[in-house]
Amino acid sequence: MISFQHVTKIYPRNTIAVDDVCFDVEEKEFVSVVGKSGAGKTTLLKLLLAEEKPTQGEIFFQGKSINEIKPGNLPEFRREIGAVFQDYKLLPSKTTHENVAYALEVIGASDQEIARDVPKVLEIVGLTEKANNFPEELSGGEKQRAAIARALIHRPEVILADEPTGNLDPYHSLGIIRLLLKIQEMGTTLILATHNREIINSLGKRVVTLEDGRVIRDERRGRFIL
Ligand code: ADP
Repeated sequence: MISFQHVTKIYPRNTIAVDDVCFDVEEKEFVSVVGKSGAGKTTLLKLLLAEEKPTQGEIFFQGKSINEIKPGNLPEFRREIGAVFQDYKLLPSKTTHENVAYALEVIGASDQEIARDVPKVLEIVGLTEKANNFPEELSGGEKQRAAIARALIHRPEVILADEPTGNLDPYHSLGIIRLLLKIQEMGTTLILATHNREIINSLGKRVVTLEDGRVIRDERRGRFIL
């Protein structure tokens, strides 16, 4: 479904963030991309979202080269890929329901679709009770659930989660990882970038390890060893 083929990203001032990376992700797979801070995880996800262009190499998504997507088709392409970040990126002046609904409003969804779909995703992420609360009234774990709901509302093929537990304590982190596993089991491909060793060790899923921008390990049922 996703194929990185000899992908290199060099930022200005000659920083090699991603160095000749090759790996494939199957449909409905759960892959953790791990490595220390600065290893290139975020850059890899940005390349996949077409927010950065590779200096060399190509990335394929469902058989098509991401490089060749026309600028006008990028918003549609990005809706195929739901992104979740460490800092949630919720709109503070909107409730949980409104944050998720807004993602549909901007693409011109009808009131009917919004009324039908938003409660469904809030139920999946376990936030039905908090639909009318504002972000500042939510715990960190709940904010991340709201951000995941917003990513899910477009029924993406893939969810990219970049350090989704970075601001959470171990208890809430586990809850978020369990939710991501549930989403994958429901049929979405999941790519999780993290430096959180405990979480990865507990999963028993595929682990791709980056060091200085290179894939140094790719294990089917990996443990995170640095
Ligand atoms: P990680 O997510 O694993 O912490 P990043 O992909 O953020 O790693 O960074 C990889 C390397 O690229 C680091 O050396 C970082 O300083 C550098 N880098 C990241 N973004 C930029 C940028 N926009 N301009 C220049 N260098 C960058």
